[in-house]
Amino acid sequence: MATDQTDTRPAPPQPLPSLDSIGWWESLKAGVLAVQRCTSCREWQFPCVETCRHCGGKLTLEPISGRGTIYTYILNNRPAAPGLPEGDYPIALVEPDECPGVRLPGRVTGTGPVTIGMAVRAEIVAHPGGDWKVVVFNPV
Ligand SMILES: [Zn+2]
Repeated sequence: MATDQTDTRPAPPQPLPSLDSIGWWESLKAGVLAVQRCTSCREWQFPCVETCRHCGGKLTLEPISGRGTIYTYILNNRPAAPGLPEGDYPIALVEPDECPGVRLPGRVTGTGPVTIGMAVRAEIVAHPGGDWKVVVFNPV
C-alpha cells in the first residue's frame, strides 16, 4: 500500500509489542501468521500471554493457514490516516479455521458487504508509518 508523500496527516498508531506479544509481531514481520498454542493441553490462544490460560503450560507460536470466518465486525468511521482506506471500512474479529475460540482482529479488504460467518483469508501487509506488518482479511 503506497503512502502519499504529500499527505500531512499523522501516521496511524504503531504497535507497541510487550514481552508477551513480541513473538507475534516478529512473526508477522517475517511474513508468518502464527497463533500461540499450549505445548501441554494444545489449546490455542490470542492475544499472546506468558503462560497458557487453561493449564499454565508453556506456549509456542504455531503457523496457521490464514483461512477463517468472520465472528463479528464493526464499521470504522474514524478519519483515515495516510495509507489507510478513506471513509468507513470494516474491522472484524476472525476465527481461524484451526483455532476454535480464537478471534484475530483485522481490517476487511474489498468493497462488498461484510457478513458474520463470511469466509476470509488472512494477508500480512505493511502497516503505514513504520516497519511493522499487520493482518488484513480478504473475502474469499
Ligand atoms: Zn494449556
